[in-house]
Amino acid sequence: MAEHCRSWYAATANDRRGHPSLAGEQAADVCVIGAGFTGLSAALTLAERGYSVAVVEAQRVGWGASGRNGGQLIGDPGTEARMRRRLGEADADALWALRWRGHEIVEERVRGYAIDCDFRRGYVDVAIKPRQMRDLEADHAYLQQRGFADESRLLGAAEVAELLGTTAYVGGLTNFRNGHLHPLNLCLGEARAAVSRGVRVFEQSPVTRIEHGARPRVVTDRGAVSAEAVLLAGDALHRLEGRRLDGHTFNAGSFIIATAPLPAEARRRINPRDLAVCDGNHLLDYFRLSADGRLLFGGRCNYSGREPASIRRALVPRMLKLYPELRDVAIEYEWGGLVGVVPNRIPLLGRSAPNVYFAQGYSGNGINMSHIAGEIVADAIDGTLARLDLFERIGHRRLPLGRWGGDRLMALALAWYRLRDLL
Ligand SMILES: Cc1cc2nc3c(=O)[nH]c(=O)nc-3n(C[C@H](O)[C@H](O)[C@H](O)COP(=O)(O)OP(=O)(O)OC[C@H]3O[C@@H](n4cnc5c(N)ncnc54)[C@H](O)[C@@H]3O)c2cc1C
Repeated sequence: MAEHCRSWYAATANDRRGHPSLAGEQAADVCVIGAGFTGLSAALTLAERGYSVAVVEAQRVGWGASGRNGGQLIGDPGTEARMRRRLGEADADALWALRWRGHEIVEERVRGYAIDCDFRRGYVDVAIKPRQMRDLEADHAYLQQRGFADESRLLGAAEVAELLGTTAYVGGLTNFRNGHLHPLNLCLGEARAAVSRGVRVFEQSPVTRIEHGARPRVVTDRGAVSAEAVLLAGDALHRLEGRRLDGHTFNAGSFIIATAPLPAEARRRINPRDLAVCDGNHLLDYFRLSADGRLLFGGRCNYSGREPASIRRALVPRMLKLYPELRDVAIEYEWGGLVGVVPNRIPLLGRSAPNVYFAQGYSGNGINMSHIAGEIVADAIDGTLARLDLFERIGHRRLPLGRWGGDRLMALALAWYRLRDLL
């Protein structure tokens, strides 16, 4: 069974203790499949409300995207205009109200459970082209209208150059509501917090099927958990409930390199405010400094789900285009993971049976959204369905041709986006 992938996160993990694997029959109020942010966040919320919860994880806590991602805590206002056209004002307002709820949950947990995960605020969206700058101006107008004037500011090219030590961008939009953190340490910390609240976490226990019924059973090769309700939180990595879920979400690969720690002078030049950064391309590059002063540089998304022959060969030229002065800096880690993507970018939350819930498909914006989803599903299990209803109302288009054909369609879409980014 796999250990955490060889990343800078795994090398700096705070908690190397494991959890037992599932053996024999267990019972709980709620059984969660998957120990990433979605599963753990829901488990912890439910345990705080007095439910008995078992979490069953195929590999290790944080083994999936939650323990490998860019660490950028973002509430994405970039799709607001499109969302309003699609959903109408009332539902769009309800979604807006949720936009930064994940940040609040993360911050409450970091404080409340003393989770050491290098959390800090500060983020900037950067525009490579004037068209992207116009999008940022529209986002800024929304933020201003909604009372976030103090936390976000539009920047011209010269200001971005000062902030990021590169002249590659025509402008940017800062957002000090957003921030960044060490995702694996957050995930491991949330798992320990859950255990402290009585949650049973089982690792190295792949779930092979869910048996539906008045008390559904979550079955592995060596054991089972029966529960009042089940949450499927396996995102891009599971193949369960295919009849309900196939054709709705697709897997994209995303990849990251970590340099050796940079000298203090280089850090001051390329990111003196210690911001997380995303560019405006559809297939975006994203980067930030780690707590020990490395540049973590990510991007080169693909829809084949396969790793490039060499992650560093794919990413280093992109990093050097921004920062040629890092030419001689060693690349010490490279890794990648799978992101669950929904074509309309609205997460897929709902039920495949009255007591079997699913939450997945955050399209690369998952740290915030997975915590929101965890709370929404916990509320639904707790009897408050309003916010789950909102997501179940949203019509997700199911791509024809099942998973195989859908993956090819997504590959075509990717080629189109690459072309648009180039133009
Ligand atoms: C390289 C990369 C960079 C990213 N960067 C960012 C970023 O900067 N900011 C951001 O907000 N988002 C980012 N994302 C997206 C974000 O990480 C995800 O959306 C989020 O972590 C999903 O959380 P999750 O708990 O739903 O899924 P996961 O973290 O993938 O967890 C699912 C878990 O379920 C388990 N599982 C699957 N099937 C089974 C089974 N049959 N039985 C038992 N267990 C099972 C898996 O082993 C896994 O541990 C990035 C993703 C990647 C891959």
